[in-house]
Amino acid sequence: MLGKIVIDQEECIGCGTCESICPQVFRLDEDAAKAVVIMARGGPSEYIEEAMESCPQESIQISWARRPARQSTEMEAFGWQM
Ligand code: SF4
Repeated sequence: MLGKIVIDQEECIGCGTCESICPQVFRLDEDAAKAVVIMARGGPSEYIEEAMESCPQESIQISWARRPARQSTEMEAFGWQM
């Protein structure tokens, strides 16, 4: 299994930065004033990384289903450059 993008809903302040950078993956739920992930396992990695780095709350993370030792290989297989 590959990495899954997740947003810490407790930390998200609903600023919309992630959606503006990578609308293919992130969407702002205006009713909840929180961002949601609409495509957790795909999308342009460079924009996902930029969104992660630009989030003022650092609330965008990648959840891994396998042990950490395999993360690098899986990320490369998925096209991630982290
Ligand atoms: S950039 Fe961070 S704080 Fe802003 S909406 Fe996205 S997840 Fe929430």
